[in-house]
Amino acid sequence: MDFPAQLSSLLPAGAVLTGDDMSAYLQDWWGRQTGSALCVTLPKTTEDVAAIVRACADAGHAIVPQGGRTGLTGAGVPGAGDRPPVILSLSRMRRIRKIDAINGSVDVDAGCVLSDVQSAAIAADRLFPVSLGAEGSCQIGGIISTNAGGTNVLRYGTTRENVLGLEVVLPDGTIWDGMKALRKDNSGYALRHMFIGAEGTLGIITGAVLKLHPLPKAHATAWVGVSDPELALRLLNRLQSCCGERLTTFELMNAEQLASVIAHRPVVASPADTPWHLLIELADMSAPEFISEMLLAALGAAMNAGEILDAVIAQNGIQRDNFWALRHGTADANRNVGHLLPADISVPVSAVPQFLNAASAAVRDRFPGAEIVVVSHMGDGNVHFGVRFSHRDWSSYDDPAGTVVAVRTIVNGCADALGGSFTAEHGIGRKLVDELRTRTDQAGYQSMQRLKDAFDPHGIMNPGCVLREREKVS
Ligand code: FAD
Repeated sequence: MDFPAQLSSLLPAGAVLTGDDMSAYLQDWWGRQTGSALCVTLPKTTEDVAAIVRACADAGHAIVPQGGRTGLTGAGVPGAGDRPPVILSLSRMRRIRKIDAINGSVDVDAGCVLSDVQSAAIAADRLFPVSLGAEGSCQIGGIISTNAGGTNVLRYGTTRENVLGLEVVLPDGTIWDGMKALRKDNSGYALRHMFIGAEGTLGIITGAVLKLHPLPKAHATAWVGVSDPELALRLLNRLQSCCGERLTTFELMNAEQLASVIAHRPVVASPADTPWHLLIELADMSAPEFISEMLLAALGAAMNAGEILDAVIAQNGIQRDNFWALRHGTADANRNVGHLLPADISVPVSAVPQFLNAASAAVRDRFPGAEIVVVSHMGDGNVHFGVRFSHRDWSSYDDPAGTVVAVRTIVNGCADALGGSFTAEHGIGRKLVDELRTRTDQAGYQSMQRLKDAFDPHGIMNPGCVLREREKVS
């Protein structure tokens, strides 16, 4: 019996796909990477997952865990190597197991789509705060495995801060039950943190206990025009001083980024013409008038101080949705307009303007024809710095791979010089493996390898993702 047939015999009917039926599972979100696989498995239960992993471990087949395939570093789809892995998709495991509103927790299957979990929390008068443009497709296991950030990190932290417990199938097929719904628990090593951000290289997350927060009753949302990032930083400081924890969102984009969103989705209304734009949101439990007035007062003071050029406060839900559509439209626009080389760096919040100046000058110097496209979770010091080439320019380059490396070296070097990171929220995937190797100090890199070897001694979990494949510590 061949291996896919062997797996079929362990699982319910229709849970193993081969041949052309696999095609949707082999391509990354950008449409730039197409891999190969032995088969795709679609388990429905944790026990199904354990059976697949045990069979793969016994036969020495690699496994690529897969969520909603919205990851941006090629981590959830296999490469095109000569030892095709088994894809393990969690997409049929989407049960909300239990909500405890008083404890502020929800137990879910790892294949639940993020927006379904957000809706379930709202139905219980609670908030699950992780929010990002891909929330209608990405899964809980995916956001945990990439430690996704998004647009609410300023107030609620990254996914890591919102996970209380996990259930994981380990690389030998054992099930680890860490589904604790506790705020305090110092019983030994905090194992769950090993799997958060591990990009499927240490085990397969099958369930999670997520932290819920009180549901804000009012929002005040503004679209603000500024002349440069230094003034945006001053506004951030002003809002944090006067609004404190009510400030949940502070997102920056340049005019080039906004223009491409509008070009790609012309239905969205166009804000005033300024060099830089901010999406700002406050959230609170009080009456809507209270925080709207608070935002109005802060923006009025900023206008008088010459910090901002223009500001519109959303007057209703439709206008608020329109502002958010501009922000959430950036990823799609960047996939479809020209050929974008994206970077996802972070620096201290206070250094964002310095990073933008340095990286822009260095890129313009080296690639005068390229366009710089910036969208930033500025309140977290996270900048998506894109260098866009027209399709015509890109196809005329003799050495596209060399150009990718040159842009990466410039941009990541500028982040490094400010004490930053070359990957803030998208992870390493297959794309930045060499970058991790060269930009991490020796002791840190070897510790990661030892950790990988301890959890996954035969290297079957998502090989070639995060760390170079089977590089043993001597
Ligand atoms: P996949 O892409 O399928 O997989 C991602 C990684 O997780 C892979 O390594 C995979 O092997 C692993 N994995 C998936 N499920 C499991 C599991 N159950 N157990 C173990 N490993 C698993 N990211 C941000 O941080 N902030 C943003 O604001 C943001 N915005 C985005 C907007 C758009 C439009 C898009 C397309 C992406 C955006 N992202 C953002 C990228 C983000 O990483 C993903 O959207 C999300 O975190 C990945 O979830 P997924 O279910 O699609 O995982």
